[in-house]
Amino acid sequence: MDPEASHWAIRSAPLCLSCKRPTTERIARRGNHLGHDGRPYFRCEPCNRFSCFGDMRGIHLNNPVCYCEGYLFSRRQIAGWDSQQKVRGAIHYVCAVGKCDFFEYCTDNDGHILRYTNLSEDPRSMGF
Ligand SMILES: [Zn+2]
Ligand SMILES: [Zn+2]
Repeated sequence: MDPEASHWAIRSAPLCLSCKRPTTERIARRGNHLGHDGRPYFRCEPCNRFSCFGDMRGIHLNNPVCYCEGYLFSRRQIAGWDSQQKVRGAIHYVCAVGKCDFFEYCTDNDGHILRYTNLSEDPRSMGF
């Protein structure tokens, strides 16, 4: 599975979960501290809302499945993309294709949320 490949289940821009209009595809700018430069993503401009990334990064077969039909694996990512996230740096799982509101934190055995605020390595090598 090539993480940089387009997500197989995204055939057209996902609809915004708030206003139900099609989102717009964008490419993340350089200098993003979470290593997102060059990543394709979708966002709703009128709502100023991030929808999802367009690639296969962060999708692993041991991730929980989201609420979408067809047993779709969620995407593991790091909070900090925008102000929608409550706990900055929190590792969490979301719908990989922006079609449902699945959200789950990645926690350790004691139930604490795992966080990254500064990545020392390339996030790709860490599976993000
Ligand atoms: Zn919208
Ligand atoms: Zn979903």
